[in-house]
Amino acid sequence: MSIYRERAYSRTSPSASVLRTVSTRERRSHLSAPRVPTVGIDIGGTKVMAGVVDADGNILEKVRAETPEKSKSPKVVEDTIVELVLDLSDRHDVHAVGIGAAGWVDADRSRVLFAPHLAWRDEPLKDALTMRLAVPVMVDNDANTAAWGEWRFGAGRGEDHLVMITLGTGIGGAILEDGRVKRGKYGVAGEFGHMQVVPGGHRCPCGNRGCWEQYSSGNALVREARELAAAESPVAYGIIARTGGHPADITGPMITELARQGDAMCVELLQDIGQWLGIGIANLAAALDPSCFVIGGGVSAADELLIDPARDAFRRHLTGRGYRPEARVAKAQLGPEAGMVGAADLARLVARRFRRANRRRLERYEMYERAADNLRRAVGQ
Ligand SMILES: [Zn+2]
Repeated sequence: MSIYRERAYSRTSPSASVLRTVSTRERRSHLSAPRVPTVGIDIGGTKVMAGVVDADGNILEKVRAETPEKSKSPKVVEDTIVELVLDLSDRHDVHAVGIGAAGWVDADRSRVLFAPHLAWRDEPLKDALTMRLAVPVMVDNDANTAAWGEWRFGAGRGEDHLVMITLGTGIGGAILEDGRVKRGKYGVAGEFGHMQVVPGGHRCPCGNRGCWEQYSSGNALVREARELAAAESPVAYGIIARTGGHPADITGPMITELARQGDAMCVELLQDIGQWLGIGIANLAAALDPSCFVIGGGVSAADELLIDPARDAFRRHLTGRGYRPEARVAKAQLGPEAGMVGAADLARLVARRFRRANRRRLERYEMYERAADNLRRAVGQ
C-alpha cells in the first residue's frame, strides 16, 4: 500500500514541480492581458522614442525626441518622456506605459540602478512617472524589452527558451524562459558583453580586459577598420577612398554597405565579428542551452555576412557538438523598434494588474459599505 502511494506520488511530482517553478498564470499572462493600446518607450543614449502599440504588436503612431548631449540629467529625460506620452494621449487611449532603458534596472522593475549613457544613479523612474502620468508604468532593461518583443511578434515566436543578443555599440543580452524574462536576483542578468573571452585582451570601458563586446560589436568593427585605414594598409584602400583619407569618419553602416558591394576587407571584418559572435553564443549554449538565439541590434543589419560566420563558429565551438540538438541562430525581425514594441507589450501586463487591484479595492469598499448599512439598519431597529 505504502509502495503504491510512493509511486503515485513520484509519478505526479514532475508536473507538480513544473507548476511550482513556472506558474501557469504567469506563463499565460500575456494571453489574458487586456487588449488595449499601450505606449512603449525606448530610451537610448541620445534619443527617446515613443510609440502607441496595439495588442498584436502593430505600431499605431510613433514619435521621437532628441535628448541633447549636455542635458542628460534624469529630470530632462523624465520631462521628455512625459511630453511624448501626453502628446500621444491626445490622439490615443493610453492604458499603460512601458519603458525600455539602456541601463541596469532593479528586480522590482521600478528603479534604474545605473545607465552608462545617462546620469541616472539609483533613479526611482517608475514612481516619478506614475505620479506624473497617472497610468501604470513599467521600467525594464532595453535588451529585455527587445527580447520580449521578438518573442511575442518577431524572430523568437514559439520559442520557450530564447536568448537575445543585441550587437550595437556594445553587446546587450536577455534570457527568456517559459514566457518569462530571467532578470536574476538583482535585476542585472544578461550582461553577456562583459564575459571575458580573451584574457589580457583589449581594454574595455567597464575596467576589465578582453570582454566579449571588445571583439563582437559595432565598436569593435569600427575600431578594426579605423586601425587598418590609419595604417594605410593596402587591403583598406576601398574604405580609405570612401572617407577621403579620414579614418575617424568610418562608421558601422558604412562598413556594412561596402561589404555588400563586395569590398574584401569589410567582408572579412564582418566575418571576424561573426566568428566572435559564434564563439560567445557557444559559451552561452553551454550555460543556458536555449532553443534559439535571436541576433539583433545595428550590426545585425549585415544579415548573412554576419550570421553565416556566426553559425559556423557556433557549430565548431559548441560543447558536445554532434550529440545534442543545436539551437537555431536567427536574425531579429523587428529592427530598431523591438525594444519599444516589447516595452509596450510588457506594460499591458501591468495594466491588467492595476485594473485587478482596483477592482479588488472596489469590491472591498462595497463589502464594507454593505456591512455598515446592515449595521446601521440593525442599530435603527
Ligand atoms: Zn567590459
